[in-house]
Amino acid sequence: MLCCDELPLPDLAEAHGTPLYVYSQQHILSRFALFQQALAEIPHTLCYAVKANSSLALLKLLAERGAGFDIVSGGELARVVLSAKRAVAKTVFAGVGKQVAEIDAALEAGILLFNVESEGELALLAEHAEKLNLPARFSLRVNPDVFAETHPYISTGLSAHKFGVDIHAARDLYRKAAHSKWLIPAGVSVHIGSQIRAVDPFGAALERVASLVRELEQDGLGLTYIDAGGGLGVEYTDGPFDPAAAVAAYAQQIVSATAGLGLHLLIEPGRFLVAQAGALLTTVINVKKNGDKTFVITDAGMNDLIRPALYQAHHQILPVCEASAAQKYPVDVVGPVCESGDFFARDRELPPVQPGDLLAILDAGAYGMSLSSNYNTRPRPAEVLVDGNAVRLIRRRETEQDLFAPELV
Ligand SMILES: *Cc1c(COP(=O)(O)O)cnc(C)c1O
Repeated sequence: MLCCDELPLPDLAEAHGTPLYVYSQQHILSRFALFQQALAEIPHTLCYAVKANSSLALLKLLAERGAGFDIVSGGELARVVLSAKRAVAKTVFAGVGKQVAEIDAALEAGILLFNVESEGELALLAEHAEKLNLPARFSLRVNPDVFAETHPYISTGLSAHKFGVDIHAARDLYRKAAHSKWLIPAGVSVHIGSQIRAVDPFGAALERVASLVRELEQDGLGLTYIDAGGGLGVEYTDGPFDPAAAVAAYAQQIVSATAGLGLHLLIEPGRFLVAQAGALLTTVINVKKNGDKTFVITDAGMNDLIRPALYQAHHQILPVCEASAAQKYPVDVVGPVCESGDFFARDRELPPVQPGDLLAILDAGAYGMSLSSNYNTRPRPAEVLVDGNAVRLIRRRETEQDLFAPELV
């Protein structure tokens, strides 16, 4: 029988219903510790990427261990303010389309840095800094034009992508910004994408950023921060994976590319901290055959976990109580949503399952709940955080009243 830490999953399903997101606190903290250990020798701050899993309880947990945050919206800023006010001073704000209300809110809250993605945004930031009489610290998010193997929807470091400013144009932009009384050039940032498994693209991108830093020094412009972004990938299959080795190799790339610059390092991991700490627990509603295909229909759907539909992502799926050595058969595991894209796995070998059985969709802690929706007017799942033999409800299941609250008839 599958457990989260010491708690059997059937007990959690019985107490909280399904679909249910289950996270292990110890798992998240051990991933966090890997980065802290690997970078112990150099001044750094880990700015957890809130969008990977935005749960207030998780933000609070990480802030208590010293994390800052990487946010991409005013809503995420509000989450940090609500759950970890002191970490606002360690928060960086990325995003290609920051709106003026979001810029004002971040200036007033006193975030560490704006990661600015265009010349137009820089001008807007200066205007609002002046209006509020609050000088703005910024980094330019540069686009290093480095290729990293991942799904095209989550690759961001090529000129063809909408992200960042061309690294060759950055020097001029810093020079211009240095004339503004309201803009403080404090750092430089880069983020080349997500679910990147090879570590050398991180090094290659940072080498380019390091050259820029040296050019800026020649211009008399000394920065304080270098932000390596996030993006380190995890293993979603049951293949071998050594997270400590992955972090060590990643850190080695970053440390060697930035050696001698004397800057404070920021890193923005999201997925790596939380993906494998979480599972989506779901109950089989029905098993049906169409021709020679077998469909296992679950009470979780693409609105609860969209990664397979959106990125053709693979998630391992395990019966929670596996009959020992049962013969396996290929099935499609699908949700109840009215879309053919509503699947979790296709032609997946599973032992026979019956209505009422529990399945665990593994590695669902990142970009699961945070990408969920109410499509088909489905209330979103509850979330629980397990710590050893203790469990805490960190988000109650939505009700229909919750869904209708904003609507006017
Ligand atoms: C999404 C994002 C991250 C986190 O990426 P992961 O792959 O989850 O580590 C970090 N920084 C920025 C700017 C992002 O957009």
